[in-house]
Amino acid sequence: MTTIGLIGGMSWESTSVYYRLLNEGVRARRGGLHSADILLHSLDFSPIAEMQAKGDWDAAGGMLAESARRLERAGASCIVLCTNTMHKLTEWITGATNVPFLHLADVTAQAIRASASRRPLLLATRFTMEQAFYRDRLAAHGVEAVVPGEAERADVHRIIYEELCRGEIRPASKARHLAIIAAAAASQGADGVILGCTEIGLLISHADTALPVFDTTALHVEAALDFALGAERAAA
Ligand code: GLU
Repeated sequence: MTTIGLIGGMSWESTSVYYRLLNEGVRARRGGLHSADILLHSLDFSPIAEMQAKGDWDAAGGMLAESARRLERAGASCIVLCTNTMHKLTEWITGATNVPFLHLADVTAQAIRASASRRPLLLATRFTMEQAFYRDRLAAHGVEAVVPGEAERADVHRIIYEELCRGEIRPASKARHLAIIAAAAASQGADGVILGCTEIGLLISHADTALPVFDTTALHVEAALDFALGAERAAA
């Protein structure tokens, strides 16, 4: 098993899910008392969220590059960035390090390609839904994601920053997400749902909709486990 390097804290509510799922995954694959070999650099999200809101992406990119460098120096064999949004700054990380970067959109696109979904709905921050960096990366794999309308995007974005990243899980927000999914299936032909923000899995799950759900957090964890454990098979 090699050491998985996590850049987390964006927000820590989802980073804690990465930590738990990585450890559960190693236990499932190796059994006994085995647990994941992890280096975690957890950043203070408040200044980063301010940089996002101001569009000061270069400052944020510098922080991510430094974080990745520190993880590599400490012995990480790969870098896992625990937020979809900050994949906008992928080049800052890949330009600063030599170890593999496990890109979340690549991992997600591969899961979608292996399913029957061809027109998934992307639910995420405004940055991820509205800017090109994420949908273009999916499209490079042949996945054409659709996004909801303006009012729906505003609600999803607000729920992420004002609730989920603060540990607040509200039934009304879950109902709003499910209504957005149902409307996209009816009016846009959406045949799957990408939980394209690492906190949305705290709110909705596979059990909540008949559409296939692509939870980016869980998919990213599986990719990190595949990388760190190589071809090891699940424990019997
Ligand atoms: N964790 C979120 C994501 O996956 C949103 C917080 C952030 O902007 O990093 O995009």
